Amino acid sequence: MRYLILSDIHSNLEAYESCLEAARGLYETILCLGDLAGYGPDPNAIVERVCGAAAAIIRGNHDKACAGITDAEDFNPLARLATRWTRGQLTPENLARLRDLVEGPLSVDGFELVHGSPRDEDEYIIDPLDALPAIEDASSPIVFFGHTHVQGGFLMGPGYRLEPILAESASDGCVLTLQLKGGSRYLLNPGSVGQPRDRDWRAAFAIIDSDRRQVEYYRTRYDVTATQMKMEKAGLPEPLITRLQFGR
Ligand code: ZN
Repeated sequence: MRYLILSDIHSNLEAYESCLEAARGLYETILCLGDLAGYGPDPNAIVERVCGAAAAIIRGNHDKACAGITDAEDFNPLARLATRWTRGQLTPENLARLRDLVEGPLSVDGFELVHGSPRDEDEYIIDPLDALPAIEDASSPIVFFGHTHVQGGFLMGPGYRLEPILAESASDGCVLTLQLKGGSRYLLNPGSVGQPRDRDWRAAFAIIDSDRRQVEYYRTRYDVTATQMKMEKAGLPEPLITRLQFGR
């Protein structure tokens, strides 16, 4: 089975549609690692479409805050503003959809889905020091995580050697194909669809082929100006608009 893995869409409809277009014909099932809402200008369209299209979705910290499960007090002021704006925009149906999203980890076909890390849905896995306990806590050797908005991840080979997975490439489409090996453990981040923070503005996603035991990382261009214009019109904070074109 080939699964399209999407994370951190953040109400960015142009980026989401560009990912589906780039992945067309390459997958059978959509899985989502959370943060459908927050930051971007199209929360209702994204919640409706993703909840309608994905076979499984776990919640992210922004989904919890936008749904009122948490109060966003630990967010930075800009993220808090965007959360308040999003709450005001969401229809009662979409608020309920966000509220009902399940907490990770979620097991699918021999791998695990988490938003932050296997032990804490709100934890950031940024460097090897974060990755080491996360790999040890995981109940599966293959874990997909999001939350950091950085495409790539970590692998632990034989002898407990921890290595970063680097998916950097200027070309569009598949930027890295990773063959999964028995005996190794993986923390895999598909990157962020709607607000990448790895200095590459292009929308990111991944596909796992569970039969071939292969993971493909992708980047795709989208109409970032259209998203930014919508955000401006909505009165969302300027730094959140500008960061999209720099991927940070
Ligand atoms: Zn996020």
